[in-house]
Amino acid sequence: MSSLEDGFAAEKLFAQGYSYTYDDVIFLPHYIDFSTDAVSLSTRLSRRVPLSIPCVSSPMDTVSESHMAAAMAALGGIGIVHYNCDIAAQASIIRQAKSLRHPIASDAGMKLPEFEISSLDAFSPSSFVFVTQTAGTMTTPKLLGYVTKSQWTNMNYEQREMKIYDYMKSCDFCVPWDIDIEKMEALLEDKQKGFVVLERDGETVNVVTKDDIERVKGYPKSGPGTVGQDGEWMVGAAIGTRESDKERLEHLVNAGVNVVVLDSSQGNSLYQLDMIKYVKRTYPELDVIGGNVVTTYQAQNLIQAGVDGLRVGMGSGSICTTQEVCAVGRGQATAVYKVCSIAAQSGIPVIADGGISNSGHIVKALVLGASTVMMGSFLAGSTEAPGAYEYKNGKRIKKYRGMGSLEAMTKGSDQRYLGDTAKLKIAQGVVGAVADKGSVLKLIPYTMHAVKQGFQDLGASSLQSAHDLLRSNILRLEARTGAAQIEGGVHGLVSYEKKSF
Ligand code: NAD
Ligand code: IMP
Repeated sequence: MSSLEDGFAAEKLFAQGYSYTYDDVIFLPHYIDFSTDAVSLSTRLSRRVPLSIPCVSSPMDTVSESHMAAAMAALGGIGIVHYNCDIAAQASIIRQAKSLRHPIASDAGMKLPEFEISSLDAFSPSSFVFVTQTAGTMTTPKLLGYVTKSQWTNMNYEQREMKIYDYMKSCDFCVPWDIDIEKMEALLEDKQKGFVVLERDGETVNVVTKDDIERVKGYPKSGPGTVGQDGEWMVGAAIGTRESDKERLEHLVNAGVNVVVLDSSQGNSLYQLDMIKYVKRTYPELDVIGGNVVTTYQAQNLIQAGVDGLRVGMGSGSICTTQEVCAVGRGQATAVYKVCSIAAQSGIPVIADGGISNSGHIVKALVLGASTVMMGSFLAGSTEAPGAYEYKNGKRIKKYRGMGSLEAMTKGSDQRYLGDTAKLKIAQGVVGAVADKGSVLKLIPYTMHAVKQGFQDLGASSLQSAHDLLRSNILRLEARTGAAQIEGGVHGLVSYEKKSF
């Protein structure tokens, strides 16, 4: 052994019998001979879906609907629309995402018709409240009306106790969905309306205020978006492995879905193998991603069945109780490394799913062999995530819940399991909330810049070069002791403010 040889090669570290999480391991820096701007993070989601950034939003009903899917595609990543809804609603979300050429999620409040405005907070930070059929971001194409701050301020106390539906104004100022942004701006200046409603085939696809445009103009420029052969955003969708999911898939394909993810915590099942073969047989042009898996054996079975991509993670999600409830799963760093080792032999891209809470975790997932990361909690709480903001202890938060939580299962079981509600339900997830993250159009570009800095420290100018360093054993790692993990975070201060950008 040379006296310069330091740390461990991944193949040695991950053969010690420990289940390592991202926080358990640390890379040793290597040699820099290029700038951060020279790092390319372009990659593939699956065999035939190229991306310019390795970011995927999770198929969860508090993460990925139309605004998230459009924003992720505009950034060069992709969103995977959840299926905790009926078939028509999922197809409609996909169509809407593809129609959001300007992926602007309005900062204005979206309220249900029966909402009563009790204070000016309802307008913050905008001067409008829009009335929609779903609260939160406008996730289904139904804008019913609007109320302005000045209109509400001029109302008397009795009138203010009415439901907004009873005094809202109707929206009659519509423009085509594919109008360019400069024209939209000019219209907003001219008409003095303060907002425009974008329509496609008679359906509302978005509402954009003057303030929204100002806000979005201040975000960093992102690289090429993820556009399909139809010239529209590429959008993915999750489905299950039941017989009824075949009908669901047919509608999603008609809505223009570009890739499908078979959504399960344990993907190595007869049901999934059959579904993979069905999808490949029925829609040979459509990439199908299998999972979730965490072992080489599971991965090998799905690869042999014909998957175009794999999704890795069992028990690693922030809302997950699977390891506690079922005693199965794996530390995510080990799972990603092991599955990627076997998938690389067949050229199958791997999604590292769950457990991402900072840019360092993204660097670790990608350098350990993944082609993309899938994020739930990291993106929940953003402007583009479904749901309305609330205030708790003075903090602006949004709800975030596991798809295996009782609440989500109760909502979805009718649609997913065709009324099979008599089955005993055991939760493998929780319902919680996350802090306001602002727009993903700002969060992701900054995060990608931090990831590039990590790649530079390792001497990797691309995902391919990182994977080459990993497999040639030039990349060296170590496991961190508990004390090393404490040392690796901010420590020993009486107080501090953590602001990343
Ligand atoms: P699932 O649909 O794969 O499984 C639910 C149950 O249905 C399982 O018992 C499964 O064996 C059964 N099933 C599936 N297809 C069937 C068929 N054709 N015939 C008969 N039985 C069938 O979903 P899940 O694993 O419970 O996950 C639900 C959601 O929660 C997903 O969104 C998943 O991503 C999420 N989740 C993820 C994790 C994780 O660690 N990644 C853990 C728990 C839940
Ligand atoms: P996060 O990014 O750490 O928040 O994890 C998101 C991932 O957790 C998702 O992409 C799913 O794989 C997984 N997940 C979603 N819902 C549940 C659940 O209810 N229990 C366990 N895991 C879940």
